[in-house]
Amino acid sequence: MYGLMMDRPLLISSILDFAERFHSATEVISREVDGSIHRTTWGGIARRARQLANALAALGVRAGDRVATIAWNNHRHLELYFAVSGMGAILHTINPRLSPEQLRYVVHHAEDTVLVFDSTFTKLAALAASFGVVKHFVALSEHAAASAEPGLAGALDYDTIVQAASADYEWPTFDERTASSLCYTSGTSGDPKGVLYSHRSTVLHCYAVAQADTLGLSARDVTLPVVPMFHVNAWGVPYAIASVGGKLVLPGPGLDGKSLLELIEHEQVSCLLGVPTVWMNLLGHLHAVGKRLTTVQKITIGGSACPPSMIEALEKEHGARVIHAWGMTETSPVGTVNMLLPKHALLDDAAQLAIKAKQGRPVFGIELRLIDEDGEVLPHDGQRSGHLQVRGPWVASAYFRREDAHDPAFTDGWFDTGDIATIDPDSYMQITDRAKDVIKSGGEWISSIDLENAAMSFPGVAQAAAIGVAHDKWQERPLLLVVPAPGKTLALEALRQHLETKLVKWWMPDAIEIIEALPLGATGKVLKRELRKRFASYQLPQ
Ligand code: ADP
Repeated sequence: MYGLMMDRPLLISSILDFAERFHSATEVISREVDGSIHRTTWGGIARRARQLANALAALGVRAGDRVATIAWNNHRHLELYFAVSGMGAILHTINPRLSPEQLRYVVHHAEDTVLVFDSTFTKLAALAASFGVVKHFVALSEHAAASAEPGLAGALDYDTIVQAASADYEWPTFDERTASSLCYTSGTSGDPKGVLYSHRSTVLHCYAVAQADTLGLSARDVTLPVVPMFHVNAWGVPYAIASVGGKLVLPGPGLDGKSLLELIEHEQVSCLLGVPTVWMNLLGHLHAVGKRLTTVQKITIGGSACPPSMIEALEKEHGARVIHAWGMTETSPVGTVNMLLPKHALLDDAAQLAIKAKQGRPVFGIELRLIDEDGEVLPHDGQRSGHLQVRGPWVASAYFRREDAHDPAFTDGWFDTGDIATIDPDSYMQITDRAKDVIKSGGEWISSIDLENAAMSFPGVAQAAAIGVAHDKWQERPLLLVVPAPGKTLALEALRQHLETKLVKWWMPDAIEIIEALPLGATGKVLKRELRKRFASYQLPQ
């Protein structure tokens, strides 16, 4: 027997409709490419999104077509988020840090018909023009300069086509399982893989993200997502903030500490989201100018492990609550979020910090399990680590245009994340490594993340990365690479003694090297594979 409830499809357009109807005057602020500040409202975004839908339809964009963007977090990109998906087309957000070969691959693979770009990325758009796939190029700003570029002579000006279009547009109704957006993983191994989100998955993820014990977003928040809109839909924040009618602040290209602090102070930002490297830079800037964050209540940190020392600095010195979260492109991305349970309230700071450093508990809708090398399901005892698998209504079931290829990552209705983790009896999941980054010593695994966290809790260490280096007896042993904080000299012997208080003996790195900087990938993560290459013939003391 079916229930007798209305079968209204879950569509992205309904999120924007809601924001327009009930939070029309709430502001959306963005930093433009030239550094100036642009102010509009949810009402303004909704109106322009309808104009944009008409303009795109006039260009020939039809349901299912891919519209690509290479753009910062700004109001125009936000309009594209809603207009493209809302009209039934698919928004393909391109990561501007892809290599030229990867760019060629994704534009061909997605068969983008329109490419919209911020002026910062004119060269990339010109390169894409040479592929002969895209029919229309649209410059989001500085149109004259963009169209002077060879290959982009016919580029259209975004504001001109939007302003010329009618705001009369009714969002179509269709099956909620229709594809809405497309995001390629950064392809650290092999070609990038396309994750194709649906309206249903996006709207369900949006409900989950806004919940109090997830990111806890509300109409009273002023939210600044530093996580880029070209990376996993900015963690779904643009949708989730619209669904609660909160004020949104978009940082454009200004991701450095100084530009972020200016926006945070000026717009009274209460809620921040981004990867650890961003907060490292912001903390460095705050320290340099002798300022504290005064308006920020919570900072969601994910994308790579948040070192406990960073949680401590943000919470103790700046009074912001850190929400450590885990996810990936294939999980829309939010999978687990770290919130303390009532029983943790009486724990002392150190015990609470040990819990907060974990990646958190599953959000309602997400299921996790751990598998060992033989495919056996492991207990959640907080001790045994295994391959982390996940399933849920906003987890990918296959990669775009590889639906028929057998992919071992998708087996038995679970997705294998490629992460190695433990899950404790309270269901807190802790990532110990990417499967490919695990340090295998004498048949046992050493967690590079634990080593790095231990190193970063030593004053004067700005960044750390641990990699496995070949060893005659133990197969691999850890080499720890540390980047000193600006202006600091590191005493390696003191660092070593500090590590001895934090790590079991056989986890101690066999060697520590100081390096100037860590190589970072397209999404701000340390490129371990680069480091492994660079130190491939490193001689550990035997
Ligand atoms: P890409 O795969 O393109 O690098 P993703 O954002 O999809 O980008 O990366 C997902 C991976 O990032 C996860 O599988 C995990 O290894 C890592 N990750 C994400 N959040 C965390 C976190 N809080 N702690 C540790 N690792 C994390």
